[in-house]
Amino acid sequence: MRALASISQSALAHNISLVKQYSQGAKVVAMVKSNAYGHHFDLISPLIQEADLLAVSELSEARKLRQYTQQPILLLSGVYSQTELHEAINLNCRIVVHELAQLAIVLNTKSNIKVWLQIETGMHRLGLFEQDFAKVVEKIQQHPNIYIETVMSHFACADKPDDPHNQQQYDKFNRIVKSHWKKSMANSAAILSNPSSVFDFVRPGIMLYGASPFHEKHSELKPVMKLSAPIISINKVTKGESIGYGATWVADKDSKIAVVGIGYGDGYPRHAPSGTPVLINQRLCSLVGRVSMDLITVDVSGVETQLGDEAILWGVDKLPAEVVAKYANTISYELFTGVSNRVNFKLV
Ligand SMILES: *Cc1c(COP(=O)(O)O)cnc(C)c1O
Repeated sequence: MRALASISQSALAHNISLVKQYSQGAKVVAMVKSNAYGHHFDLISPLIQEADLLAVSELSEARKLRQYTQQPILLLSGVYSQTELHEAINLNCRIVVHELAQLAIVLNTKSNIKVWLQIETGMHRLGLFEQDFAKVVEKIQQHPNIYIETVMSHFACADKPDDPHNQQQYDKFNRIVKSHWKKSMANSAAILSNPSSVFDFVRPGIMLYGASPFHEKHSELKPVMKLSAPIISINKVTKGESIGYGATWVADKDSKIAVVGIGYGDGYPRHAPSGTPVLINQRLCSLVGRVSMDLITVDVSGVETQLGDEAILWGVDKLPAEVVAKYANTISYELFTGVSNRVNFKLV
């Protein structure tokens, strides 16, 4: 009996239409890095054909994604050798140039390519520095085969709309990038909270998958992945008895405990503490004891349960992934990308 990740086509369609509604006609770069945020390329890519581009982090991902789609792929980390450049071209990638050392590599092409220039505006991670930008543009413009499609930058604090970094980065971006360039800045949080940052291409990730980029749930998004697993044993424990590794949870009354067939080997977070909610037969129950590799234990005292009943770990309105993430001291992004290959994936 395996854990199941049900991927909802209608939820994804809803979230894409929400992206379009918020982005005022901008083109959409669907962020599908890390195997579509753990939702699996093969399931997701046929469902997002209206996206203008699909973005992955690295070449190994572009290679896999190309098996499922003909859409253009944006390669976020760019290329680091002629071999990589050739493969990226063969895979019909748009190539990000975010580091001066990548310039010489892309200039050494005879094929027609489209590049995205990423500039540094305050996150201090990837991006060309302001003082190099004009030089890079000049070199590329002298090359007959390279076309600068867009200039992009990335927000550090878009999930906190009031953070002053957002305005500083936005101002710096506008100062460096002259108006005739196409621009791209907005991730999910900016799409939902900062309409002026939408520009020409938006780059939604987490909102496509229906989780909020903010600290609280966003009421308009619909969860795409529902993670569930069957109850494989039901036990009675008497007051004073403990459960699981380390005997960390001790029953303070006689209790009924469901053993659910999912654990950290499937990607359920090991750091989820006792008290993390699990939805069983429409009731929010508490995880009790430590998460083990294959199993978790849930207090179902007072809840009608039978062997084989479905326990929902996250991905429904009553229990969004954001809630579980908060308990486990992480973010929904990490929960989704952590779902392992042992879990069965199914489109619904
Ligand atoms: C991952 C990523 C995004 C998407 O971020 P979300 O918060 O998931 O919307 C956008 N832009 C870049 C450069 C990224 O790496």
